[in-house]
Amino acid sequence: MGSVVLSLDAELAWGFHDLDDPPGDRVESSRESWLRLLELFDDFDVPATWAVVGHLMLDSCDGEHSDHPTPDGWFDPDPGTWEGRDDRWYGAELVDAVEDADADHEVASHTFSHVEFAHTSREIAAAEMRECVELAEDRGLSLDSMVFPRNYVGHRDVLAAYGLTAYRGTQPRRWYDRGVLGSASKLLGWPTGAVSPTLVTPEIDEYGLVNVPASLFLFGFEGRGRALAERATGADPMVEMATRGIDRAASEDGVFHMWLHPNNLTEERDFERMAAILEHLAAVRDRTSLAVETMGEIAADLRDDEPRPREPIGPR
Ligand SMILES: [Zn+2]
Repeated sequence: MGSVVLSLDAELAWGFHDLDDPPGDRVESSRESWLRLLELFDDFDVPATWAVVGHLMLDSCDGEHSDHPTPDGWFDPDPGTWEGRDDRWYGAELVDAVEDADADHEVASHTFSHVEFAHTSREIAAAEMRECVELAEDRGLSLDSMVFPRNYVGHRDVLAAYGLTAYRGTQPRRWYDRGVLGSASKLLGWPTGAVSPTLVTPEIDEYGLVNVPASLFLFGFEGRGRALAERATGADPMVEMATRGIDRAASEDGVFHMWLHPNNLTEERDFERMAAILEHLAAVRDRTSLAVETMGEIAADLRDDEPRPREPIGPR
């Protein structure tokens, strides 16, 4: 018997601030999508792991962040205002909504300013985590889990030093992720049941962190492929895929770990996809002993009960 985990990269404009051409529709809809997703999770009483960019825990800032060691220009897009004025850069009210939801969500970290941890210095990684931990503590929260921006895993020792216990590792690559045959099977094979999604096995790494790898990105099959598959079968291929993963987790050991960004939901059919997946998940959970867990709960299950020493890096 396995379990199902849902994690979200919750970032608003911070997910794209280092890009020349940010996707306007995704930034535009990001707050509404965030709140509608919370409603959907409540409708089906499904808890999720919300990995929030730390800056969103602020309701205002000076736009400078002069004590932060990131390179010059990193915070240039930061408006230096407040949530009521520039609500794609601040999200204190949205984090409140996650905490206030009926479903028992976990608030996790997505770094302070969406830094790619595999491509940054240890000093910057430590500064990012320090900010996140302090902002969470101001809310009475402790951060247990990390989702790395763009899934670039790095500086895991720094996470451990700041008391985190879990991170989302990269999805194991399968044959259908590669090459022409893989592309063709995604188009033709998914709806026929030829492809089964991945269950993952959480493992404790050398720093005592639990790696909860991703199984399926719920919006990784968009554009022309999605349109063709929907036309061929009349169904949403991602719902089929997620349904199969949930069913597998209800009958085998392992974790089915789905993930998405709230800003992936820009159209009505995207919400319909999520509703269909959550409805199936709730139904299977209610008639089997399938567990729906957060990343932090998975980690707590795996780790010793003994608290680990916490050694912050640098001044607090
Ligand atoms: Zn700021």
